[in-house]
Amino acid sequence: MIKDIATPIRTRTILEKYGFSFKKSLGQNFLIDTNILNRIVDHANLTENSGVIEIGPGIGALTEQLAKRAKKVVAFEIDQRLLPILRDTLAPYQNVHVIHNDVLKADVNEVINAELNDVADIMVVANLPYYVTTPIIMKILEDHLPVRGIVVMLQKEVADRIAAKPSTKEYGSLSIAIQYYMEAETVMTVPRTVFVPQPNVDSAVIRLTKRDKPAAEVQNEKFFFELIRASFAQRRKTILNNLTSNLPNGKENKEQIERALAEVEIEPRRRGETLSIEEFAKLSDQLYVSVYKKA
Ligand code: SAM
Repeated sequence: MIKDIATPIRTRTILEKYGFSFKKSLGQNFLIDTNILNRIVDHANLTENSGVIEIGPGIGALTEQLAKRAKKVVAFEIDQRLLPILRDTLAPYQNVHVIHNDVLKADVNEVINAELNDVADIMVVANLPYYVTTPIIMKILEDHLPVRGIVVMLQKEVADRIAAKPSTKEYGSLSIAIQYYMEAETVMTVPRTVFVPQPNVDSAVIRLTKRDKPAAEVQNEKFFFELIRASFAQRRKTILNNLTSNLPNGKENKEQIERALAEVEIEPRRRGETLSIEEFAKLSDQLYVSVYKKA
């Protein structure tokens, strides 16, 4: 019986054997609790035919539990020093491939085509490096990876923003950008004590499930996201003020923007944080057709 990597003793033994020192700049907080890892993996609903993409395997704590349940695991690790360690710790698992690369620079679609072409479904499962959580999640969405969903550990504060509902203080452009493509739910909160070293923020696990189609239909997605960024640029300002200050030629187009808001029955004094995705979609189409398509 092989001992799990994610115990305090085994982790310490591995780190000492290789003289490994943590790099804070790479968000290295390793999990040392097999029970927590198993619960994370449970939330991914894997089968023996599933493929998994992991970001940042570290010394392989989560990778090992994924390998036991999935058909194949492909893991991206940026830190060269971890590669010999992973070769050692993951030697018992034939279904793992570690790729030495920055996931933000990798062509993940190409890797999926080459390595995960014979799996029934694909999940992204990771304990993310906290300094790049948002860019990593946005990359997965914007690259349109053929994944069923994403289960990731991240800062609780970011998890709250991702899963937020309208009219809460956490709701913002990140909530909409993600909920447009995925259903978002926080499935676990995780104490600091299950990591080495302990992070100085609270952690949570979110599950994102790909929608069959985006949460709202819009004529031009690029403009829709531009509108959302503009609407939240200054949270305390009204929607009208944010749009006139932050959309291209907003000041010149003030009258048309007012007319578009009236047309879709959105009170110009409301704040962006009170608008639902559907309201943003209606406003986006109205403004796009009446002003920005022609620009
Ligand atoms: N999965 C391990 C665990 O749960 O114990 C380690 C998680 S640790 C929070 C994050 C890992 O991501 C580290 O191994 C770090 O080196 C790696 N990492 C950081 N930035 C990365 C990037 N841009 N691309 C790929 N891996 C990255």
